[in-house]
Amino acid sequence: MKRIVLASSNRGKLAEFNALLAESGFEVITQASLGIGDAEETGLSFVENALLKARHASQASGLPALADDSGLCVQALDGAPGLYSARYAGEHGDSTANNAKLLQALDGLRAERRAAFFICALVLLRRADDPTPLIVEGRWHGHVLEAPSGTGGFGYDPLFLPDGQRVSAAELEPALKNRLSHRGQALARLHARLAELRD
Ligand code: IMP
Repeated sequence: MKRIVLASSNRGKLAEFNALLAESGFEVITQASLGIGDAEETGLSFVENALLKARHASQASGLPALADDSGLCVQALDGAPGLYSARYAGEHGDSTANNAKLLQALDGLRAERRAAFFICALVLLRRADDPTPLIVEGRWHGHVLEAPSGTGGFGYDPLFLPDGQRVSAAELEPALKNRLSHRGQALARLHARLAELRD
């Protein structure tokens, strides 16, 4: 089985990617399991950061590499929190503070001005100097609620009302969220293009 290194140490993502790639004969391992540290995310877009992460992991491991970068973009905030979604309120990964800051930033804006989307960029490099990386993107459109609702999911899920749903992303069945979400859409697109890996 051919190994692919994942430029993330998130267990949930590892399982998702392994499930997707196993049927194509790939085993996904984390960069942490090879002692590889995080790349500097100096890009100005999600796809640039995913490329930087994948290239770093491939360079350090000598293996094909897969990386993702995701976040929430709010139209009325010119795309913020965007690339800085994880550390919008300062500390990395403090979802309560991030959500409070987002509500504050949108204070007084009515529903029609609260449009937002989650985005996920996925990059698969065959090798560090691969000139034709597989690049896919998924977007999940919706609105930012005026108060958090639900306890499932993570990050901005309690504040995100997906288009076509009556409940927040934190209240959706996990399997439904995985199918509808930005990550789910990007994974489906990657899956559809896996045959290109043999090119
Ligand atoms: P990452 O690139 O997957 O680590 O995501 C960066 C940040 O975007 C996370 O820390 C969350 O704040 C936010 N985010 C990404 N995907 C989701 C999601 O599905 N639900 C809620 N927040 C998300």
